[in-house]
Amino acid sequence: MRLLITGGCGFIGSNYVQQVLNETDDVVVNLDKLTYAGNRLNLAQVEERHGGRRYHFVHGDIGDAELVQRVFDEKRIEAVVNFAAETHVDRSIHDSAPFLNTNIMGAHNLLECARKAGIERFVHVSTDEVYGSLEPNDPAFSEETPLAPNSPYSASKASADLLCRAYFHTYGYPVVVTRCSNNYGPYQFPEKLIPLMYLKASRDEPLPVYGDGRNVRDWIYVGDHCRGVDLALRKGRPGAVYNFGGAAERANIDVVKAMLNILGKGEDLIRYVKDRPGHDKRYAMDFSLAARELGFAPSLDFEEGLARTVRWYENNAQWLTQVQDGSYREFMANWYGER
Ligand code: NAD
Repeated sequence: MRLLITGGCGFIGSNYVQQVLNETDDVVVNLDKLTYAGNRLNLAQVEERHGGRRYHFVHGDIGDAELVQRVFDEKRIEAVVNFAAETHVDRSIHDSAPFLNTNIMGAHNLLECARKAGIERFVHVSTDEVYGSLEPNDPAFSEETPLAPNSPYSASKASADLLCRAYFHTYGYPVVVTRCSNNYGPYQFPEKLIPLMYLKASRDEPLPVYGDGRNVRDWIYVGDHCRGVDLALRKGRPGAVYNFGGAAERANIDVVKAMLNILGKGEDLIRYVKDRPGHDKRYAMDFSLAARELGFAPSLDFEEGLARTVRWYENNAQWLTQVQDGSYREFMANWYGER
């Protein structure tokens, strides 16, 4: 199959590109705008091994209709997996415009171009955050849970999910939406909880934890999420929505303590900081539909996955330095400086 993967230079996209090239004969075209979160370094080995043959990189924006159409035609694309997005909730609170442009308008452009080009497979990658927040004893989110996004990020993702729904119902366009819980693993940009805490702890700097640290997330190893996306691509029912999760609900503070424990550092590095505005209390995923229809199951236990991730960051110190350019440092200094 000839696949267009968007956002392939980001965290999950780069893991997925590697998985597809390693495990199938597919040809991958990666369309990425290379925002602060996208880095060609993530795929340096892929470029070396497969560049110009089974792997092609196109620098550009999913919102650029002319470019997307040209890529579809010239690269004879047969399927699309859309990972491209602005993804950091804190940034969406600071400035939501880029989130609306990419996550809604960009996703719409991809859908529209793919529909017109007659591309028969389209997976749109979304998030558990579109469902809003759970109380401690609420049942986990199912695909039937009403959408109730609480941040500009999740509202922009929910908007695109609804466009996918509309494209299936109005045009019969066979799009599949996947919604996944919090990912962790290699190549995650160090603004998200696990790599940020690793970075701070490894330098013996204070670890900023929002509020009381009791916010709960479900954690999934990135490779397990990528496997789910791939199952949705190859076996997904047109028009379906599939939840994926890691069956690993953990409070943020417990994740931070587990990280300190792996690194052999003391809990005195923890600093509670003013909570994120509108911070969702708890997310949890019921992924029984994906288990039944796709055979999806997370394979990696959280503590084992976390230890593996910490080892990866330890072995890739140079990557960590190189992805932190000036704009990232500036954003982090302003954001945590205000808190
Ligand atoms: P990321 O921020 O690490 O990477 C996003 C990538 O998209 C970057 O390479 C960036 O350059 C690219 N991009 C941004 N705007 C673009 C545009 N207009 N055109 C082309 N490329 C563009 O994100 P991630 O964590 O890898 O997330 C990937 C997808 O998975 C997103 O859609 C996100 O909503 C979803 N998701 C993420 C998580 C998670 O825990 N990280 C969980 C569930 C769902």
